[in-house]
Amino acid sequence: MTMEERYEQLEATIRSYNPGANFQQIRAAYEYAAAAHEGQKRKDGSPFVSHPLAVAQIVAEELHLDSESIMAALLHDTIEDTAATHEDLAKIFSPTVADLVEGVSKLTRVHFTSKVQEQMENLRKMLLAMSKDIRVILVKIADRLHNMRTMEYQTPEKQKQKSFETMEIYAPIAHRLGMQRMKWELEDLSLKYLDPVGYQEITDALEVKEAEYKDFMEQVNQQIRQRVKEDGIGDAVVYGRLKHPYSIYRKMYTQNKSLNEIFDLIAFRVIVDTVADCYNVLGIVHDLYKPILGRFKDYIGTPKPNMYQSLHTTVMGASGIPFEVQIRTHEMHEIAEYGIAAHWKYKQNGQGKGDENSYEWVRRLLENQDGADAEEFIHSLKVDMFADEVFVFTPRGDVINLPAGATPIDYAYTIHSAVGNHMVGAKVNGRIVQYDYQLRNGDVVEVLTSQSARGPSRDWIKIARSSEARSKIRQWFKRERRDENIVAGRASFESELKRCGVTIKELASDENLPAVLKKLSYNTLDDMYAAIGYGGITALKIVGRLREEIQKIIQRRQAELPQPVAEPAKQEAAKQAAPVRQRAVQGIIVEGMANCLVKFAKCCTPVPGDDIVGFITKGYGISVHRSDCPNASPERRAKEEGRWLKVSWAESAQETYHTTLQVTAKDRMGIIVDISTVLSSTKTRVCSLNARTTPDGFALTEIEIEVSDHQQLQTVIRRLEQISGVMRVTRPAG
Ligand code: MN
Repeated sequence: MTMEERYEQLEATIRSYNPGANFQQIRAAYEYAAAAHEGQKRKDGSPFVSHPLAVAQIVAEELHLDSESIMAALLHDTIEDTAATHEDLAKIFSPTVADLVEGVSKLTRVHFTSKVQEQMENLRKMLLAMSKDIRVILVKIADRLHNMRTMEYQTPEKQKQKSFETMEIYAPIAHRLGMQRMKWELEDLSLKYLDPVGYQEITDALEVKEAEYKDFMEQVNQQIRQRVKEDGIGDAVVYGRLKHPYSIYRKMYTQNKSLNEIFDLIAFRVIVDTVADCYNVLGIVHDLYKPILGRFKDYIGTPKPNMYQSLHTTVMGASGIPFEVQIRTHEMHEIAEYGIAAHWKYKQNGQGKGDENSYEWVRRLLENQDGADAEEFIHSLKVDMFADEVFVFTPRGDVINLPAGATPIDYAYTIHSAVGNHMVGAKVNGRIVQYDYQLRNGDVVEVLTSQSARGPSRDWIKIARSSEARSKIRQWFKRERRDENIVAGRASFESELKRCGVTIKELASDENLPAVLKKLSYNTLDDMYAAIGYGGITALKIVGRLREEIQKIIQRRQAELPQPVAEPAKQEAAKQAAPVRQRAVQGIIVEGMANCLVKFAKCCTPVPGDDIVGFITKGYGISVHRSDCPNASPERRAKEEGRWLKVSWAESAQETYHTTLQVTAKDRMGIIVDISTVLSSTKTRVCSLNARTTPDGFALTEIEIEVSDHQQLQTVIRRLEQISGVMRVTRPAG
């Protein structure tokens, strides 16, 4: 056949399913490809353009795709193998056609060098993710199918390599997209080169069986046809076939059986109009032949993930020959044979008959594209299944799967912590990139390392996207910078302790230390400082765990004091018993005293603007309460008159104050998120947040915050009260 004849055959095929196709443009694409590939030959000596023509023929005949896909198939090797550019194609044809061709070329450039099984799923996902427009992968599969059909002209090495790739990558993708016919052909062709002896054995045996079973199959066909007709089931298509070589091969291999032991070599198909008829036919088949127990599968009730639907049953025919029967509707059949492309065709021709809801899988791809017209449907049919992952290559060709947005730092630490720790630079596709470069699908990433590398910088923790990389970087700081960490950790622990009125010296006394370390499960204090220093735990948390011990120290100190400090004259003693703070102490003016120790009562956590009153504690200076606090009730004030003092807020209170809020809300999803949003939008620092739900459906949240005054606190409270579901915001006291 001349090239022109082949082209005319292509047009005829397209016309049979899509008379309105853009034949002028398709012809132009063919002529452009013929001119661009002029002089290039295939391995069998034919002009190169015979290959794109054949791919377009597959795309039309097998998948009934649209004009743009046909043009892309005709042009699919022009960017890769000729002088044509994306720009040229966009100008002459359309940007979409140019994108499709570019997409196919990108997939062609991906080289599969790895043979490791775990890599395969990543490679498949990568191809799908790279395809973006599903038509890219459909054209690529057609390209691969034609290459496999003409594989005999290649060297044995190339045959094996391409067949392996096809078996591991392209056939599973065809399966995932629901295209059974192309999947089978890809598998059978691959098997032919991967295990020529095994393949030959099976095809020879099938030939024998075919002759042997011919009469039997004809008889079964007649019987089913007749009963279906008698029962008034209209428009039924019945046919039988021998199973295809690879499915038999796989059964022999996985179940370790000889060909004669394979249970059912014959499969019948009955295709009817309605789902109800499917179940009617099932009844007929079970009535005619003895069903084999445990072999019935209802994929109509429970479709496979790739949308496949059918009833499967295996029955025993005359002279003990078992066979499988698959029963489905015409529409299910189309989906089974052509997969996602079939669904697309239905929509495209405006024949979206049947139940749209049955295409959950496609719907998931489309998400918000409901009601889009045919044109939009095609453009929105993007493979976004792996939107939160990115797939890149090592220089050796292994695929590494990273979270979307990952950087060379993530990559390096995924390879090995030692690679990350010695990284001095990174290359992507041969070019040096910044550490915060966002990796893209198909990038080849190389990490430059040096034995004298200084190690990660603390910024890397912010740049890395994967928690794995971040924790490995922290590990490094933990190990390599122990001395620095101890110094930094000790400093922050010391200042945290100071807030509680205790010193490290007291805490680490011979008497206290063993209990403290046991409580914290560190072997030495330095270990604990190091942990704080590298960020493994916060000083605040540690102090929280030591609350009891700290309490004990304070109590002991009080017990050692000769007598309660009851009169103002003795206040000097109080001042000396504990470290004294500077300034208008914490924004509080104590009447008749300067520079005495002041703390805010934990029970009511006053903030500037609140009415307050002071209480002289035993050994810990003045405790400031809100005047409405139950612990400062008039009764109490009367009882210990000498210990209550007038206190007031200083004008220039610049510090921040701890206070506690309690939020009562109806428990619902996201309530904590809403609360923290309010806190961050009012620039309120949160010291701790404790939420619990009650059995009767309320969420109680206790938040310890830092505010600068009463006014800011009121704003926070007001904003919290506005959150939907929040019923009450209170300041606990007492
Ligand atoms: Mn090609």
